[in-house]
Amino acid sequence: MNKYDIGIDLGGTKVLCAIIEKKERKILFEVKKKTKKEKGNKKVTAKLIEALDELFEVSNIPKEEINSIGIAVAGQIDRENGIVIDACNLDLKNLEIKKILEEKYLINTYVFNDVEAAAMAELILGSGKNYNNILCVFIGTGIGSSLIINRKIYHGASGSAGEIGHIIVDLNGRSCSCGGVGCLEAYASRSAIESRIQGAIKKGRKSIITELTESQHISTKYIKQAIDAHDEVTMQYVNEAIEYLSGGLASAINFFNPELIILGGGLIQGIDEIYLKTVKLARAKALKIASEKTEFKKAELGDYSGVIGATLTEEYNNVF
Ligand SMILES: [Zn+2]
Repeated sequence: MNKYDIGIDLGGTKVLCAIIEKKERKILFEVKKKTKKEKGNKKVTAKLIEALDELFEVSNIPKEEINSIGIAVAGQIDRENGIVIDACNLDLKNLEIKKILEEKYLINTYVFNDVEAAAMAELILGSGKNYNNILCVFIGTGIGSSLIINRKIYHGASGSAGEIGHIIVDLNGRSCSCGGVGCLEAYASRSAIESRIQGAIKKGRKSIITELTESQHISTKYIKQAIDAHDEVTMQYVNEAIEYLSGGLASAINFFNPELIILGGGLIQGIDEIYLKTVKLARAKALKIASEKTEFKKAELGDYSGVIGATLTEEYNNVF
């Protein structure tokens, strides 16, 4: 058995490739490239191959010593055939990424959804190590989640099970990126908080955010700084997001009765107050009998969960 795997995280704005040592799961070398301008199958594939070639060059590890390539993609995938069916952030449609990489590098390649890969990483190496039934929820620009039943990811009939971001929390509510109305993601994600704060500023409310950044994009870092400065506008919309998020999680607890809920993603990793308040409120809102046995933990693998999770195929197939 070769000692190394390659993990790739193909996100909305970057491609991150890493050579991972198999035994300790340590990242030995990594190459990160922005994919902002590159959209569409051709350009994204070229960028990915450029990053992989660079990774081989800097690491000086020959292809023959790589056991497998695992790729985590922010989009809808066909696991069996290793095809990216649709990744709207990168404009990918029916991209046969497994075939392309296997033909070029002659290394077995596996394709995962990014949330699924992150959940695998948490299940095998992170917060979920000692649990069987887990709900993983990642709250950042959007809300992604994955359902683990008896230590296996539950995919559902068409592979989309566990989409807690699109449970409906307001029948006549805001429009969501999925085309629906009133989804949790439109109320409790970072982008939801961002657009509420921007709306308030446009209406003339004063907020420290305008002093912190001139950009329309309000990153987690600025939301955190505004909370620390007790900025009224930011606190209002962060608290609103927490109310919706805890409500959504309480519904999930009542429905699924998991042993563990793992919370991760930028908003949770970056702002401890959001994590703590959400957990407290979700417990209070759920049925007592269901929430009594549900534990909460933060995700442990952070930004590298996709890269590492995508290389865990073998371990995942061997867990019971
Ligand atoms: Zn939706």
